[in-house]
Amino acid sequence: MNDQALTLNSISKTYNAGKPNEVKVLHEASLQIDRGEIVALVAPSGAGKSTLLHIAGLLDTPDTGAVHIDGADMTRLGDRARTAARRGQVGFVYQFHHLLPEFSALENVVLPQLANAVPQARAENRARDLLERVGIAARSDHRPAALSGGEQQRVAFCRALANEPSLLLADEPTGNLDPATSDQVFAALMSLVRDTGLSALIATHNMDLARRMDRVVHLQDGQIT
Ligand code: ADP
Ligand code: MG
Repeated sequence: MNDQALTLNSISKTYNAGKPNEVKVLHEASLQIDRGEIVALVAPSGAGKSTLLHIAGLLDTPDTGAVHIDGADMTRLGDRARTAARRGQVGFVYQFHHLLPEFSALENVVLPQLANAVPQARAENRARDLLERVGIAARSDHRPAALSGGEQQRVAFCRALANEPSLLLADEPTGNLDPATSDQVFAALMSLVRDTGLSALIATHNMDLARRMDRVVHLQDGQIT
């Protein structure tokens, strides 16, 4: 048993390697996140935040280096095991909510659980509990189009946590919201993460939000500093 929720060990990633349009994004980047720790990933646009998060979330693979989640090496998993790990251990939130438009808020939080073989009644209970915690239980039956931007993002947080992951990865989760809404939605995310004892890596270029996390790391010249 180790105490790291996430370990990125010397991760390198180059797009279009060897071609004229080659982009070296990550160069031996390393990062450790303890259990229960919330870390801000701060860097300007184009620095590689999304690339790093996608690799940590098993949505993309590094050229070299290793990814460990909850102490388990995820680097060389086959497709099946990788998909299972992604579904069960990692919650992902994007800048844009990516909710399914034809389903209600509740259904958007229920569906990933059904995909993970959770029985319907239990999935609905958990979805209601999560929506309640972020203050939008009254919006449960609304489709995403009938929700405000802040409410949509709150639902997206609930969906990310639906399968009780150990790690939450969020890619500029309040980047599309006005400053006041961003503040409230961020506070909701923080209390949800604290309540559930999750570990989190949250990309932002808002230093005010970054300072409210446990630790701030920067991504510069392909490395974590
Ligand atoms: P950030 O999230 O910090 O804005 P990204 O990780 O999205 O940064 O991108 C880092 C760099 O990698 C950028 O220069 C971007 O254009 C490039 N990049 C990202 N994804 C790809 C891809 N699939 N193919 C080629 N280049 C990419
Ligand atoms: Mg990005």
